[in-house]
Amino acid sequence: MLAPPGAGKGTQGERLAAWSGAEHIAAGDLLRAEAQTGSALGREIAACQASGDLVPDQIVFDVLIPAITAAAARSGFILDGFPRNLPQAIAAADIAVKHGFTLQAAIYLQAREGVLIERLLNRASQDGRADDKADVIRHRLQVYAETTGALVPYYEQRGILVSVNADQPPDAVTADIKARLSRLLPGAPAEPGAPA
Ligand code: ADP
Repeated sequence: MLAPPGAGKGTQGERLAAWSGAEHIAAGDLLRAEAQTGSALGREIAACQASGDLVPDQIVFDVLIPAITAAAARSGFILDGFPRNLPQAIAAADIAVKHGFTLQAAIYLQAREGVLIERLLNRASQDGRADDKADVIRHRLQVYAETTGALVPYYEQRGILVSVNADQPPDAVTADIKARLSRLLPGAPAEPGAPA
């Protein structure tokens, strides 16, 4: 899942995992869990997350790759928040080749910046994430635009981009993603009411 902060990757990732039977792996959550251990590595992660900068690639690989390869050997995965830059996308493709699995779809959740900022500020009052503050939100959106956004054409060129309008109620976003995935992937669960 490829999306700017606030687009709803976490919510949609959980729903798609339940629907598809694959595991939901959220890069930000795994990194936050490592940060909470208070280790030297955890402190470095916490500092990047608090400022809204990307965590260095090698740390991201060390934390995520074991989770990805384990899930791939079981029921597959819905990966939320990884890859987030071109070197990570190249690494993801290499891992897939090395471990014999396929990256089937890149789901891109699109929403206007004003909507994203409003959602993130609303969430700030609920779950108290250190990075849901106005100045850090602005920086995360900038990092997204400068770095992660380049993955949209990358996956489009590879024929697996699924773009969905995320500026809709969550149920409508989920329905759009499922309908698009069911068309793209012959093995995906069928949507009720979809033509056979
Ligand atoms: P959001 O998409 O709303 O920013 P996430 O939980 O996905 O929320 O990410 C929060 C933070 O975790 C990011 O700002 C970044 O510091 C770090 N992070 C998450 N995924 C990655 C990644 N793939 N590479 C580098 N840093 C990451």
